[in-house]
Amino acid sequence: MLEILTREKEAGRLEIEPKFFKVAGETFTAELRNRVEKAFPSLEFRILDTYACTECLFMAFECDCGRQHVLEDWVILEAVDENNQPVRDGELSTTALLTVLSNHVQPFIRYNIGDRLRFYRDPCPCGSPFRSFQIEGRQATVVRVGNVTLSPLAFDLEHDSAQRVQLVQTSECVFEVRADLLDHENPDQIFEPIMQSVSEVFAKNGLVDVKVEKSNAPPHLTASGKFHEVIPLKCDA
Ligand SMILES: [Zn+2]
Repeated sequence: MLEILTREKEAGRLEIEPKFFKVAGETFTAELRNRVEKAFPSLEFRILDTYACTECLFMAFECDCGRQHVLEDWVILEAVDENNQPVRDGELSTTALLTVLSNHVQPFIRYNIGDRLRFYRDPCPCGSPFRSFQIEGRQATVVRVGNVTLSPLAFDLEHDSAQRVQLVQTSECVFEVRADLLDHENPDQIFEPIMQSVSEVFAKNGLVDVKVEKSNAPPHLTASGKFHEVIPLKCDA
């Protein structure tokens, strides 16, 4: 989202003067940080990069040294290999297991969040006693077609007769719609309006050559069982 806002501001189409940005969850590159700072001279505070997910809204925060510090009194974050065994500090994990200590009602215990982490071996120069790490996983799940970048939120993938609907980019200009249908009697009647609304989003953004096709395959889930509404090309989230 921040990439999209920045591009709009650079192009002179966005008239907002924010003082502060907080980003959470996805990879935030130094390159994007530089672009944001240039595009938004109104920023009075540095961009706060926190690390969060739906299951835990605050797992870690970035300090002035650019490291993420685990909020260890709230969560346990384990960097593990493909067999869920701990990896050493300094090594890149295959995934991470999250245990939320503050949530007694619906506990998350060693929940696989699918992110690749690397814990630092040395204490952080900022002086924080909390362990620090870098995130090397999950790239933002934005859709790219040619020079156009679209947020997954641009698409309306809801239908009363479908439990869930997914848009998968199979090549640069081809997308397929997958769905878990609640009513199997007339699948075309369910797919048709969804495909129509997806095509309209592309058309509104000047992408007239994009093909949207119906797929009979069920929605794709990640290795950790997560469902993403939109799966862009080369997305390993
Ligand atoms: Zn630090």
